[in-house]
Amino acid sequence: MEEIQKRDIRKLSLAELEEFFLAQGDKKFRAKQVYEWLWNKSLKNFDEMTNISLPTRELLKKHFIINHILVDLMQHSQDGTIKNAVKLYDDKIVESVLIPTSKRITACVSSQVGCSLDCNFCATARLKRMRNLNADEIYDQVVAIKDEAETYFQRPLTNIVFMGMGEPLLNYSNVIDAIEKITSPEGLGMAPRRITLSTVGIPKMIKKMADDGVKFNLAISLHSAINATRSRLMPINDKSPLEDLAEALSYWYEKTKRKVTYEYVIWAGINDDEQHAKALAKFCKIIPSKVNIIQYNPIDEGEFRQASPEAVAMYVLILENHGIIAKVRKSRGQDIDAACGQLANKNEVAELTKI
Ligand code: SAH
Repeated sequence: MEEIQKRDIRKLSLAELEEFFLAQGDKKFRAKQVYEWLWNKSLKNFDEMTNISLPTRELLKKHFIINHILVDLMQHSQDGTIKNAVKLYDDKIVESVLIPTSKRITACVSSQVGCSLDCNFCATARLKRMRNLNADEIYDQVVAIKDEAETYFQRPLTNIVFMGMGEPLLNYSNVIDAIEKITSPEGLGMAPRRITLSTVGIPKMIKKMADDGVKFNLAISLHSAINATRSRLMPINDKSPLEDLAEALSYWYEKTKRKVTYEYVIWAGINDDEQHAKALAKFCKIIPSKVNIIQYNPIDEGEFRQASPEAVAMYVLILENHGIIAKVRKSRGQDIDAACGQLANKNEVAELTKI
């Protein structure tokens, strides 16, 4: 008997699935039924597709497999944050985080296994970039957190941030594909304005997003509006300095009319002086924007230390004097290494994916 090379069915678009059914002499609408089971209902087994006839299920089993992630380890923080170690079909591991607040439940998801960007203050940067996540692997992280929100908090998932491991704009097509599924009625039907993509700021890709007319929010990990300092923190800045980023952001605003958020950590002795605060205020005038001042989450005993509360207050005052909204964000999930930049710190993920 001819051996069929089985494909991962979730790599197929709805249109490709329709083609498959038509080629098999079946009805086109069958594709939509199956697609909804796969995405909206997140089924992992063809036998559970109860509105699909037995012979059709057998046909699907003959041609396809359904790959899925597995939450391998779940850690609960004292503040309610949950960190998942997510095992992928090839046994690689990424992390995702559920962050509860009184108003929201946010899923923080990974887009790559490891990261290639070498930001000096980030634990994920210590891992080699091993591969991009597929769209379904990103989507499944969201579904897992949605289920955890319902199980542990009896509340719906409200927001999604691409602030886990990896650089989403270096895995653009899979990230966009995942977001399409998250927002489509056959998927999770979530509103794009509840999704935020966070990036080191790759100018070419920011322009591409603007051209593609994306509807989600954009956050830029800025950390310094002075080139010399930013390059020291984030080597990507040598390749794409602030002038290029500024130009791409102007293009973004011109096309989308959407504000951006700048993520900003203030470190003692690095960017905690007035000169840096004023440079940030100036950068914020390029296009409408707001600033999230995030607390530094220590990753080791290295050179980086959180700035003093006085330095943070000085920044807030200078930004406010320039009419810029600045919010100081509390760190979440630090006790389980689930906070920003701590993913892959200390635990077995570091062991598994280390160079
Ligand atoms: N690559 C993307 C998304 C992942 S990082 C990006 O760079 O935006 C998510 C956020 O956490 C970024 O703003 C990043 O700069 C920040 N971050 C990284 N390490 C951190 C740390 N140790 N403490 C606080 N924030 C950190």
